[in-house]
Amino acid sequence: VPVLAVVGRPNVGKSTLVNRFLGRREAVVQDVPGVTRDRVSYDALWNGRRFTVMDTGGWEPDASGLQKAVAAQAELAMRTADAILLVVDSRVGATEVEQAAADVLRRSDRPVLVAATKVDDERMVAETAALWGLGLGEPYPVSGLHGRGSGDLLDAILDALPETPRETFEATRGGPRRVALVGRPNVGKSSLLNRVSGEVRSVVHDVAGTTVDPVDSLVELDGEIFRFVDTAGLRKRVKTASGMEYYASLRTQAAIEASEVALVLLDASEPISEQDQRVLTMVEEAGRALVIVFNKWDLVDEERRLAMKRELERDLGRVRWAERINISALTGRATAKIAPAMRTALSSWDTRIPTGRLNSWLSDVIAATPPPVRGGKQPKVLFATQAATRPPTFVLFTSGFLEAGYRRFLERRLREEFGFEGSPIRLSVRVRE
Ligand code: GDP
Repeated sequence: VPVLAVVGRPNVGKSTLVNRFLGRREAVVQDVPGVTRDRVSYDALWNGRRFTVMDTGGWEPDASGLQKAVAAQAELAMRTADAILLVVDSRVGATEVEQAAADVLRRSDRPVLVAATKVDDERMVAETAALWGLGLGEPYPVSGLHGRGSGDLLDAILDALPETPRETFEATRGGPRRVALVGRPNVGKSSLLNRVSGEVRSVVHDVAGTTVDPVDSLVELDGEIFRFVDTAGLRKRVKTASGMEYYASLRTQAAIEASEVALVLLDASEPISEQDQRVLTMVEEAGRALVIVFNKWDLVDEERRLAMKRELERDLGRVRWAERINISALTGRATAKIAPAMRTALSSWDTRIPTGRLNSWLSDVIAATPPPVRGGKQPKVLFATQAATRPPTFVLFTSGFLEAGYRRFLERRLREEFGFEGSPIRLSVRVRE
């Protein structure tokens, strides 16, 4: 799915605009200084075309100031998105912050659009013409209040985005599988990358037909080449300065979006933290295959091992389906298990269950445990189909509402029957009257 990055200062109306793109279904919280959101990308649909909106909002400037912060957003957007939308408050006009962002964006080889927000009445449209001065083309006047202009803007966005087939990754099949190596600072990401790419050469030129973004690394593991996305920072061992957490989280999110499988690193010598859980949740919500890697196993003693057992139960229940491996980037312990675990997860992620098999399983399950009666009626489950792979996505057609508990039951049984180790699955219900 093509990605549109939205860049701009806080309070220019980015969130309102993004909400317009998304419709009512998924509201984005407003930019509140100090509030870090862990979800920054959203699915949008316009004229039957799907795209992803990466909202770089919620940004809190550090000591280096807003100008640098927004320029950094623009850099990130250029690296990760297919098109970029710079949002400017028409009542304020282009400040030096927008100028700084525009200076970056003019170098972009991706299309850049400018939205002028808060154009709530006709008389203000003329004033937006000043934004031509940013050197990024025609500004699109929009009003968050009445939604005026957002249709034209969306049309322009779709024109700017590349056409992509419905199934995102189909087009790139045959290329190396894309891996996001993520985890909070100091869990050992660079150490692991250096270890595994130290053992094997960089094979950039040998892979036919692959153009490698300089921010990615091709790494050969267990005889297979994987593309580790956005590893530039890791290779250079650039440390994220404090106060840059939001930026780090944005990058993590972008890497996950760009990946097919995420390797989430945790520090086994320390308690599982909320930040660890947030990264895992991002992977689950993005619908990517997942392998959980506990690093620094060389530091784990008996006491820690026992504590960890409890934490696993308590904190990782949500991603129970993911394989966990215990490694040490320092000693090389068990790093050979990474590639097989990724293969298993990816193959679950790619799995398609034939409709016949799915429905014969379903009728057995339902015969044994029918859905609970609601309002005196027994909802009938009519039919199931797998609507998509990557991740496996199932749709159940029913004659009535299915309780959440029963859906979870079906999901559990689905996994028991078909496995899907290492992959999230989705189950949705359509009620047919
Ligand atoms: P990153 O921020 O996730 O990239 O983490 P680094 O790779 O920079 O590692 C952070 C610190 O943990 C460094 O001091 C590493 O030497 C250390 N480290 C990484 N992996 C291991 C490991 O397996 N065992 C031990 N004992 N230390 C490790």
